[in-house]
Amino acid sequence: EQKSNPCPKKKRIGVMGGTFDPIHHGHLVAASGVQAAFNLDEVIFVPAATQPFKQGRKITAAEDRYLMTVIATASNPRFSVSRVDIDRGGVTYTVDTLTDLFGTCEEVEAFFITGADALARILEWKDAKKLLEMAHFVGVTRPGYKLDVPEEIQGRVSLVEVPAMAISSTDCRTRVQEGQPVWYLVPDGVVQYIQKNELYKQ
Ligand code: ATP
Ligand code: MG
Repeated sequence: EQKSNPCPKKKRIGVMGGTFDPIHHGHLVAASGVQAAFNLDEVIFVPAATQPFKQGRKITAAEDRYLMTVIATASNPRFSVSRVDIDRGGVTYTVDTLTDLFGTCEEVEAFFITGADALARILEWKDAKKLLEMAHFVGVTRPGYKLDVPEEIQGRVSLVEVPAMAISSTDCRTRVQEGQPVWYLVPDGVVQYIQKNELYKQ
């Protein structure tokens, strides 16, 4: 008869949700900073299908955003990319992301990573209360946004200061459209993917 291990070592897994349209070095520095700060075994990047707060806005095909995320993370052995949100389709809610990734798996301790702007709105997320029980939430600093934890959830969210990267996907898209370079704002392979597939031209 097999006895359960009285002290199993839980896997510590970070989850970095985003639209990644395109993925840039701000996302990568945030994920790497939290990975190190919390000694995470792995960080899973999860490109959203449709982001609830971005409905009505034109967004790049999920497959392109997925591939750019794979290209950007491929060299880091602790980074991986999940298709759960893209494959589920529709509007992406983090409560579904975490359920699909981990279910009721007791061997995983999940850490959901958000920038200061996203964290500020977390109580508006679907099933916010349940969500906060499904993972540790980690807020990272982001230039231009104040890292404020809503009062109701103070003490339940950790904050990590990461090197300030004043980069946004919106700015990257605008730069490409205006013929400005995005070299060094996004990984080289992502620059090349954008060029090859003529993304953000209009
Ligand atoms: P967009 O301008 O299209 O909204 P974005 O740059 O904000 O794009 P998202 O895909 O919306 O990127 O963000 C995914 C997650 O990464 C969010 O939690 C966001 O706060 C965080 N994030 C994005 N850019 C940075 C940055 N430069 N520094 C720290 N966190 C960031
Ligand atoms: Mg954003």
